Amino acid sequence: MKKIQGVASSRGIAIGPVFQFRRSELVIGTCENQDPFTEWKRLESALETARGQITQVYEKALKETDQSQAEIFQFHAMMTEDADLLERVKNLLEERRTNIEPIYMEVCQGYASELAAMDNEYFAARSADVLDVANRVERILLGVAESPTAGLKVPSIIVADDLTPSDTILLDKSLVLGFCTAQGSTTSHAAILARGLGLAAVGGAGNEVLSLAPGMTIILDGGKGVVIADPDQATIATYRQHAEQVRLLQVEAQKHAHEPAITRDGFKPEVSSNIGDVSGAKKAVGFGAEGVGLLRTEFLYMDRPSMPTEEEQYQAYKAILQEFGQMPVVLRTLDIGGDKELPYLKMEPEMNPFLGVRALRLCLIRPDIFKTQLRAALRASVGHNLKIMFPMVATLSEVREAKKYVNLCREELKKEGIPFAENIEVGIMVEIPAAAVCADILGREVDFFSIGTNDLSQYTMAADRGNAGVAHLSDAFQPSVLRLIRDVINASHKYGKWTGMCGELAGEPLAAPLLVGLGLDEFSMSPPMVPVIKALIRTLDSKEMKALAEEALEKETVEEVRDLVRRRVPAAAAVEG
Ligand code: PEP
Ligand code: MG
Repeated sequence: MKKIQGVASSRGIAIGPVFQFRRSELVIGTCENQDPFTEWKRLESALETARGQITQVYEKALKETDQSQAEIFQFHAMMTEDADLLERVKNLLEERRTNIEPIYMEVCQGYASELAAMDNEYFAARSADVLDVANRVERILLGVAESPTAGLKVPSIIVADDLTPSDTILLDKSLVLGFCTAQGSTTSHAAILARGLGLAAVGGAGNEVLSLAPGMTIILDGGKGVVIADPDQATIATYRQHAEQVRLLQVEAQKHAHEPAITRDGFKPEVSSNIGDVSGAKKAVGFGAEGVGLLRTEFLYMDRPSMPTEEEQYQAYKAILQEFGQMPVVLRTLDIGGDKELPYLKMEPEMNPFLGVRALRLCLIRPDIFKTQLRAALRASVGHNLKIMFPMVATLSEVREAKKYVNLCREELKKEGIPFAENIEVGIMVEIPAAAVCADILGREVDFFSIGTNDLSQYTMAADRGNAGVAHLSDAFQPSVLRLIRDVINASHKYGKWTGMCGELAGEPLAAPLLVGLGLDEFSMSPPMVPVIKALIRTLDSKEMKALAEEALEKETVEEVRDLVRRRVPAAAAVEG
């Protein structure tokens, strides 16, 4: 039995045999003296099949993940019809008179290299997509199976170096128990897709996992980022029992998903969701979310060649707000920088991008970008309960400056006779320790706080949130982080304001008792966790939890904090992981 620590990518427990997935190299041979007409017809037929496959993948992606992920496949479909590329293929076919396979691949590779060399990062990034499409068409021409799970006969855990978006979408879910990659972090494509699909996943587990013997039983604990290779029977039994318990509790919780979460003594926090687009919005409503605690607007800006216009943003925000009617929707203004880049936005290279011109810092030096978004948000607010939130705030002057832009946009719209909702609440994310420490000062200036524990933990502990080697440090259960959370909630209450939480901690069952005890007003999490956390909150007594939180905040280590909650609130331990 061996424990391998990776990065928690998507919660859930999977137990099963290893299926080592390696992308096979296609062997493309050349046959001379072929009839160009026949070869061209073969290509046309392969392209048609490819388009059919891509449409299926696109529709599957739309259903199972966010729209931004699905759009990649729209580009793939376009590539199968690219007139310039096909013209090159036709000319070369006439000239060489060989079979189509080497010619199509050669032209696609040339096209991909031209894109890669372009000064526009969006197009450069599309070069990999051209090769993805080329491989698909070649596989069809050669009659080679395309899915990573082709050849898989029994439900297994996929182990791979990394998985592309196409790989992840094409996994046959009936045969995939979860996946584990040597590369990748919490924010990698595969991890984001896994969470959308509800599959257990561990990323960044290192090359060691690539040598796990095919067929060997492993346990994947996606919530903890742990892989247990060759576990003994007792360990398997423990995990199995736990996974089954969690599954039953989830089924039970979903039955009451649309009822409020009120503690035994009447404390009623709001339980909302983190979403990125309208498909996430629909999912959240289905799981009983009472609103949106975090609308990550940056997805709207990604995977496209230029900035979305005010009108495009307005349409996108409106569509999301309509899903929620009068329920509150907290729109976070653009959080770009750090690990999230926009290909068309030229930014100075930075030594430490997470400590650089990120999020609100960028918006304040690019009022053109900021105002476009604010105007779109204000316009979309009519008839809804929209709230605006600024990410990565460190100082009071940043808040004041950001609010000036909101007011400026309000005045502009008024002059132009364009309506917007009055009394929109304006708040900030508390994810930099400076903001948490000065929450009593910032609280005067804002309507609400939302604690971003993903960044708050990384900045408090000086530990990269995507680095498996320091995952034990960038842990929101660290007493230092919990103390900051307590102070922020207390500071907001001093002014009669509210505090929410949209970092991952809000959806952690073991954290719920502590957060109830600290008086958190709003919990926001991935949609599938909403019914689970609601059910857990209903079992608690807020006064008892207050005493528990006080005790937890005196602990020295994350293990002591977790153990305390496990012992005192077995209902939370039961749905952990
Ligand atoms: C956070 O930092 O906790 C947060 C919710 O924001 P993001 O994960 O998008 O940085
Ligand atoms: Mg953050």
